[in-house]
Amino acid sequence: MEKEGSIDERLVERFREAIRIKTDWPGEEGPAAEAAVERLRAFQDFLAGAYPCFHRAAERWVLSPYSLVYRWAAAKTGEFPSGGTGAPASAPVLILAHYDVVPVEAAKWTVEPFGGEIKGGFLYGRGAQDMKGSLIAIFEAAEELAERGFRPKRDIWFAFGGDEERSGLLGARNTAAWFSGRGQKFSWILDEGSPVAINQIRGLKTPLALFGVEEKGFMSLALEVDQRPGHASQPPRIQAAAKLARALLRISRHPFPVRLGPVVGTFFARLRELRSRSSPGQGNGGRPAGAAILSALGPLISPVLAFVFRGNSQIMAMLHTTMAMTQLSGSAADNVLPSQVRAVINLRLLAPWTVDGALNYVRRVVGDPEVKISILGSASGPVSAHPEHGRMGGPGWAEMAAAAAEIFPDAALIPFIMTACTDSRHYQGLAEGIFRFSPMRLSPEDMSSIHGHDERISLENFSLAIRFYAALFGAL
Ligand SMILES: [Zn+2]
Repeated sequence: MEKEGSIDERLVERFREAIRIKTDWPGEEGPAAEAAVERLRAFQDFLAGAYPCFHRAAERWVLSPYSLVYRWAAAKTGEFPSGGTGAPASAPVLILAHYDVVPVEAAKWTVEPFGGEIKGGFLYGRGAQDMKGSLIAIFEAAEELAERGFRPKRDIWFAFGGDEERSGLLGARNTAAWFSGRGQKFSWILDEGSPVAINQIRGLKTPLALFGVEEKGFMSLALEVDQRPGHASQPPRIQAAAKLARALLRISRHPFPVRLGPVVGTFFARLRELRSRSSPGQGNGGRPAGAAILSALGPLISPVLAFVFRGNSQIMAMLHTTMAMTQLSGSAADNVLPSQVRAVINLRLLAPWTVDGALNYVRRVVGDPEVKISILGSASGPVSAHPEHGRMGGPGWAEMAAAAAEIFPDAALIPFIMTACTDSRHYQGLAEGIFRFSPMRLSPEDMSSIHGHDERISLENFSLAIRFYAALFGAL
């Protein structure tokens, strides 16, 4: 590598090999799916071959092509060199990742999507960020520690899934059930998530290490109105499409109420603190007063927040359950009345809204029995934060914060709500708290390549991720 002299070429080669194993899903059953399953197995085998020291140090279970589990057992008491604290072993920790990737539209890429090409200090390929970059960084960190004979003070478990991008029902869900069956619990879990965000918030220079301690839920609703099909020359007086349109209008006029939970409260308070620090003497000058008033007034402030941030969809996503109108369909021909019109709205549920509660809310807002409303596919409720995580403490916070401070010394730690789903939601009953964090410095432009074309990661970020996991595991 001509760039980033600090990173060992062999590490980069293993990462490229990981990218080259196509672990996307063809989206259909049959021979293509069988071949895809074989490639998931091939990926599991690749890991075993590429990281021999870790594989000697840890126990390994291949539960299915979609599920791979490791236990890196704690050293037994008395095995520590003198100078150890002698404290009793803490509860185990679980590290999650997935090795499947989303499909590509190869024609829109300027490089081979599964080639692992390196250009200008970046490694290109599907999964470079989401999330083979982190997965391989986890293995490199563990391999390096294992090679030096390191043993953790507590059990570190790892669970890797092969169908996260298809909702984790074959991988993560079954793995979680396997843990439950063994009575295995964890103190805390670390999964992929929000990054060390740079240039995310205007006027704020400080990078933000966003610890996703809470996760929004996911639900798609179909709204359907039936009518007698017929010729478009004789339409009924009130048409199905008009009824559907009225329902959608009611939905857009009645957004879910804004709620300022503890995580978002701390998020805003921290932002305010950082802002006033980075522009001394200016206080909130020139900025909307939202963040400033809010921490003082608590829940009373919700309507104000809803007003101040109504134009900022990124902030609003943290403040309430969102409803995105994503699909509309009617007749297949321009001169045929549809027998049914249909709209789909996608909701991201903010705690404490449950799947049922949100469904009832939408039904009430629509208030029309002719509009049939049903859940599409599988819905999942939000995962609340551990109460202490919202206050920047609680299980795992100190360990996570120490590793982040070591590798990202200029970043401010800040609790955050993940608005996308992760595999970790399947494990929520097994641990007290969950962190969703990807240890990389990402700008908004960097993030846009996730799931997009020309997905890429800088070798510098790959290297940071390895160092972060090494610092974290080394302290566990
Ligand atoms: Zn992912």
